[in-house]
Amino acid sequence: MDCYTCHRNRQIDTLPARELVAVDEHWRVAHAFDAALPGWLVLVPRRHVASIAELTDAEAASLGTWQVRLSRALRAVTGCSKTYVMQFAEKEGFAHVHFHVVPRMPDLPDDRRGPAIFGYLGATQGQRLDELQQDEIAAALRARLDDAGPE
Ligand SMILES: [Zn+2]
Repeated sequence: MDCYTCHRNRQIDTLPARELVAVDEHWRVAHAFDAALPGWLVLVPRRHVASIAELTDAEAASLGTWQVRLSRALRAVTGCSKTYVMQFAEKEGFAHVHFHVVPRMPDLPDDRRGPAIFGYLGATQGQRLDELQQDEIAAALRARLDDAGPE
C-alpha cells in the first residue's frame, strides 16, 4: 500500500518537529508540507483509515478534543480569528483520512475565504513555508499545547 501518511507514521520516532506538532495513541499532527499559509495543520489517524466512518469510537472521542485544542493553539500562536476544519482525502496517495485545521486570519482576503483557502495549499517551492519556518511554528504550537494541557 502506497500511503504517504502511513509511511510517515511508521517513522514517528525520527520525524522532525514540523511533522510531529502533537501526537497521542490515536492521532498525529503535522504542519502541511506544501502550504503558503503559516500554521496550516493536518490531523491524521495513527493507523490507515480511508473513511471517517471507519474510525473507532476511541479515535472519534479524541478527534473533537484535538480539533478544539489545535484551534486554541493556532489562535494563540498565529492570531487567527477562527479556524477552518476540512476533510476530503481525495488526492492520489493521500486517501488516508486527514483533517485540515487551518488558521483563518483576520486579514484573509475575500477571495480566499471558505473553500478558496485551498489556494494556499499545493504551493510551489518558492511560495510555500520552508522546512525551517514549518519547524519554528510547529515548536511554538507544541509549546502552547504542552502549556495548555487538557481542559
Ligand atoms: Zn495510510
